[in-house]
Amino acid sequence: MKKVLTIIVPCYNEEDVLPETFKELGNILINLMNRNKISRESKILFVNDGSNDSTWKLISKYSQEYSYIAGIKFTRNYGHQNALLAGMSIAVKHSDMMITIDADLQDDVNAIPEMVDKYYQGYDVVYGVRNSRKTDSFFKRNTALLFYKIMGKLGVNLVPDSADYRLLSKRATNSLLQFKERNLFLRGMVPLVGYKSTKVFYARKERFAGKSKYPLTKMLHFALDGITSFSIAPIHLILYLGLLTVLISFISMIYTLVEKALGHVTTGWSSLMISIWFLGGVQLISISVIGEYIGKIFAEVKHRPRFNIESENYSNKFQKEESEK
Ligand code: UDP
Ligand code: MG
Repeated sequence: MKKVLTIIVPCYNEEDVLPETFKELGNILINLMNRNKISRESKILFVNDGSNDSTWKLISKYSQEYSYIAGIKFTRNYGHQNALLAGMSIAVKHSDMMITIDADLQDDVNAIPEMVDKYYQGYDVVYGVRNSRKTDSFFKRNTALLFYKIMGKLGVNLVPDSADYRLLSKRATNSLLQFKERNLFLRGMVPLVGYKSTKVFYARKERFAGKSKYPLTKMLHFALDGITSFSIAPIHLILYLGLLTVLISFISMIYTLVEKALGHVTTGWSSLMISIWFLGGVQLISISVIGEYIGKIFAEVKHRPRFNIESENYSNKFQKEESEK
C-alpha cells in the first residue's frame, strides 16, 4: 500500500502567492500520486496563521473544490513555528510522512519527490538544505552564517542552511510532538529527535510575490529564542567573566600596594581600587552560581523527553513466555 503524504504550508497574509503555491504544490502532489509514489489520500494542508487578508478565503475555496486540499484557521497570529507544529499535530493522525514548506515558493518544490524517495529508502528525517543563498541579500546571508557559527560554539546541533523545509516520518513527528516546550525553535528540536536522517539539496529562490514576514526585529528575536531555548552557555560566560575580574583584582592589588609603598597615591585610593575589582568579581561569580541553578530549572521545566527508543523487543519476550506457559 502506498503511503500518505501531507504537505504542510504555514500562511500569514499570503494572498499574493497562494494561487501560484496551490498550483505548483498541487502539480507535484498529483504527479506523485499518478506515478504511484504516494497514496491518493495525500493532501496539502494550509495553516492560516491569523492572516488579515483574503488568505483564508482562498484556502476555503480550494478545499471546497479539491479533495486533496485542506486548511486550518488560527484565531489570531501565533507565529510561523506554532503554525508548523499545529499542522503536524493534525496531519500526523492521517499521514505516514509530512513535509513542511513555506508558502512563498522560496524553497524549490522539485525537492519534494526526492524527499519522498529518501523516505522510502528508510530515512525518518530528510532536511532540505540550500546549496546556494545567492538570492538572499548580503546581509541576510552573512548574519545567517554568523548565527550558525555562534550556535555551533554554544553547543547547539543545527543542520547549517536548513530551515523549516523538511520531511518527517510519522514516528519522527510523534517524537517531536513529545517536546512540550513553548518557545519553539523547530530546527533545533528536530535533530534532538534522532532517527536516521539525510539531506536533499536545492537552490533557494526569491520570494515569488509579497513581502517577507520576517523583518529584522522578528529575525533577531527568533535567533535569540534559538540561543536561549537551547543553551545555557551564556550563564557560563558570567562565571568566566567573574573569574577574570577576580584575577584582575589580584593584579590591581599588587599594583596598588606597590604604588602606595612608593608614596605615589592619595589617601583612600588603594582601598577603593582593591575593593571595586574584588567585589565586582565576587558578585559576578555569585550571579553565575544562581544562574547555574536557573539553568537547571530551565532544563526541568521544558520537560523534554529524556530519550527516544526506536525499537525494543524486551516486552515481546515476556509475551512469548506467557503463551508458552
Ligand atoms: N509565516 C507565518 N506566520 C508568521 C510569519 C510567517 O505563518 O507570523 C509564514 C509565511 O507565510 C511563510 C513562512 O512562514 O510561509 C516563512 O515566512 P517568510 O517567507 O516571510 O520568511 P523569510 O523567508 O523571509 O525568512
Ligand atoms: Mg520566505
